[in-house]
Amino acid sequence: MSDRVYIFDTTLRDGEQSPGCSMTVPEKLRMAAKLVELGVDLLEAGFPIASEGDFEAVWAVGAEFPTARVAALARCCTLDVERAAKSLERAAHPRIHTFIATSEIHLKHKLKKTQRQVLDEAVAAVELARRYTDDVEFSAEDGARTDPDYLEAVSKAVVEAGAGTVNIPDTVGYSTPKEYGALIGRIARALGEDAIVSVHCHDDLGLAVANSLAAIEAGARQVECTVNGIGERAGNCSLEEVVMILKTRPDQYPYRTDIRAEHLYGASQLLSRLITFGPQPNKAIVGRNAFAHEAGIHQDGYLKEKTTYEIIDPRTVGVPEGELVLGKHSGRHALHQRAQKLGYELSREELDAFYYRFSAVADQRKKGLMDEEILALLREAPVAQQAAAD
Ligand code: MN
Repeated sequence: MSDRVYIFDTTLRDGEQSPGCSMTVPEKLRMAAKLVELGVDLLEAGFPIASEGDFEAVWAVGAEFPTARVAALARCCTLDVERAAKSLERAAHPRIHTFIATSEIHLKHKLKKTQRQVLDEAVAAVELARRYTDDVEFSAEDGARTDPDYLEAVSKAVVEAGAGTVNIPDTVGYSTPKEYGALIGRIARALGEDAIVSVHCHDDLGLAVANSLAAIEAGARQVECTVNGIGERAGNCSLEEVVMILKTRPDQYPYRTDIRAEHLYGASQLLSRLITFGPQPNKAIVGRNAFAHEAGIHQDGYLKEKTTYEIIDPRTVGVPEGELVLGKHSGRHALHQRAQKLGYELSREELDAFYYRFSAVADQRKKGLMDEEILALLREAPVAQQAAAD
């Protein structure tokens, strides 16, 4: 089995449909450009039947990014699939992504359909989608809570009907790594080389990334994820986390993606500017504090040898050095080095004076100081004079 894992980005669809994350078509285009630069394999740009804006977004992304594989979402019904196909007319590499719920709880309460009906509708939708494109993905919504025998039957039937990718989502973020890995392994064995098994995990229990990794180990080769982990409720599997785990621990996860990691931070920052919130400060990989070593002991060790406290060089994910925070727990060693980087060679006395001034400001702050502020401090009171005056 290939070690290549495909990154299916759904920032512009699942991500965008959550509160505070709406994007206009021009905003989606800006984000799409960043995602293309980042090297995602697939870009899900919207759910065309859901709104005119979604239709236009898929259309525009397809038209503007001829090298990208662009996906449009559709329920398993004629109107949806045809609308998705229409929205993809300008895309050079279109994918129709059609879905229907397969779990007992969804069949009984939401769809009010039998397993047979759902299976027939899934097959019919895939067949219809194949009339428009060779690249069809089927999703068994709430797959993780679906009876495994039925899920396997549906998976085989949609592949027989022409689906090249079968996605088994943990729609409600309920599964656990061992359980999910076993289910994905079963479907991957049942489909063999006939289709790629995909996963789509939600983070309701904080397990979206762990579940996605368990699925990769069990044979999944497509991961659906979003920048900053945005998405319905607690969000989706975080793109930057799953990518950097594979990159940082090849000894544990011998798989590869085509993501250009140096654009991860930029993608996270752009998304934060386009929607109403950014990642929490302590978010892995892209959070403001993800590479901040504030405590003096940590900083001292880090400055002597980075690997004492740092498992990822922030430059590999594109964090500009100036955005590393210095706070009130910073020691002289860190301050001295930062001043040097900013072009100030400080004598011992100058450093002491600067340290004193810096601490006075940092003490009043909850957040740390960024380069701009540190520079201002260095400039506003020439340290040599300050030291002399002291
Ligand atoms: Mn979802």
